[in-house]
Amino acid sequence: GVSWQDLPVCVAGLGVSGAAAARVLAERGARVTVVDARADEAAQEQAEPLRAQGVTVRLGDGDTLPDGTALVVTSPGWSPAVPLLAAAAAAGTEIYGEVELAWRLRGPDAAPWLAVTGTNGKTTAVRMLVRMLEAAGHRTLAVGNVGTPIVEAVLDPSHEVLAVELSSYQLHWSSSVVPLAATVLNVAPDHIDWHGSLDAYAADKGRIFAPGTLAVVNADDEWSVRLGGGAERGVGFTLATPVAGRLGVVENLLVDRAFTADPHREAVELAELADVRPFAPHNVANALAAAALARAYGVAPEAVREGLRAFRPDPHRIERVATVAGVDYVDDSKATNPHAAAASLSAYTSVVWIAGGLLKGADIDDAVRSCADRLRAAVLIGADRAQIAAALARHAPNVPVVDVADTDTGAMDRVVTEAARLASAGDTVLLAPAGASFDMFAGYGARGDAFAAAVHRLPER
Ligand code: ADP
Repeated sequence: GVSWQDLPVCVAGLGVSGAAAARVLAERGARVTVVDARADEAAQEQAEPLRAQGVTVRLGDGDTLPDGTALVVTSPGWSPAVPLLAAAAAAGTEIYGEVELAWRLRGPDAAPWLAVTGTNGKTTAVRMLVRMLEAAGHRTLAVGNVGTPIVEAVLDPSHEVLAVELSSYQLHWSSSVVPLAATVLNVAPDHIDWHGSLDAYAADKGRIFAPGTLAVVNADDEWSVRLGGGAERGVGFTLATPVAGRLGVVENLLVDRAFTADPHREAVELAELADVRPFAPHNVANALAAAALARAYGVAPEAVREGLRAFRPDPHRIERVATVAGVDYVDDSKATNPHAAAASLSAYTSVVWIAGGLLKGADIDDAVRSCADRLRAAVLIGADRAQIAAALARHAPNVPVVDVADTDTGAMDRVVTEAARLASAGDTVLLAPAGASFDMFAGYGARGDAFAAAVHRLPER
């Protein structure tokens, strides 16, 4: 293990996870300097308790690597290209993400990790997994991208097993993490600006399959299969009928042909399709992935089902807002890339699609092409709407498109009014933007809230 006493550590970024890392390292006697470009009142307030603990906090300069730094602990948002991390790399200084730090901090009897990555579905799969583990009576917690900082969770002896959501950023800075079992749900273009290329992005996700980790591969996803190909041990999941060694779907059942004691690996029933909510093909995939991880930990089929039934999706993930004049209004504001939007659209047959925002360099053509026959109309907002309009013109030339030019937040009322005008009873008006929200909103949550508020202002017809 690492000897933390007197180790000169630079924590890059005074966020929730950065502050937690600094705190834990200071408790172990490391000489910690936290740096951040921000120097506003909020940053000063965050710095105060750390300073009281003997941590040096340098605000107003996030670029210069402090002299004598032996280890950098970086926040997930920091690109490897930023000056401080580039300087550390050039100097041969070790760089950990918070996940790597957490792994190094854990004791010999620490809780094993069941880990999830993928472009889309991470949070959903992790929450399903937690419910399944709880149903089996295990003390567990979801950690990684949200909630309790992972460096704190690994030091809490009350957890038996951790359900860990890992982003590609966090995996980029992880080198020694060995989950008990792990899955790559899917890989599609996203965050390419950060990683440099799709190959580099996928390779970072593939690091979740460490030597010794049981790889849970999505047999329906090319990248997941490719990344899992190198693993020592693996199982798969599919939306189709599973061969031995996989979980999958047979008629209306989720079944397991991977974790069975039966020598012929006859299918074991896990749950009914109707237990998956909200029902959408991609959510069945999330459920199968969660089930595989739970089964790898020894969870019984009954607990998988009970957990799935207890699961409630987080807000803004295919959330039905209201039904007005026979039209369902659904908020999937969290669909912040084309792959997510396509998955969402594929769950409905006649859709008025609300799309737009920041595409982050991702290509929208595949998503539009694959869902063209489901579109009744489209209403576009935000920064990159012209790109979506062009793709619609190419692949769905007969679909009426309304462009709500304004990018002020009040535009959502006009968007919803237009969508209502274009929809008929039985249709779904779906906010699945395919882009990030930061061109117009504080985040996907605010965008979804604006949508829901506008829907509630619609007159009953
Ligand atoms: P993440 O944590 O990876 O961002 P979430 O579970 O929050 O994923 O889901 C984000 C969005 O991605 C959902 O709102 C939905 O549109 C889409 N999505 C969820 N699961 C999948 C999947 N398995 N494949 C494709 N898209 C998905």
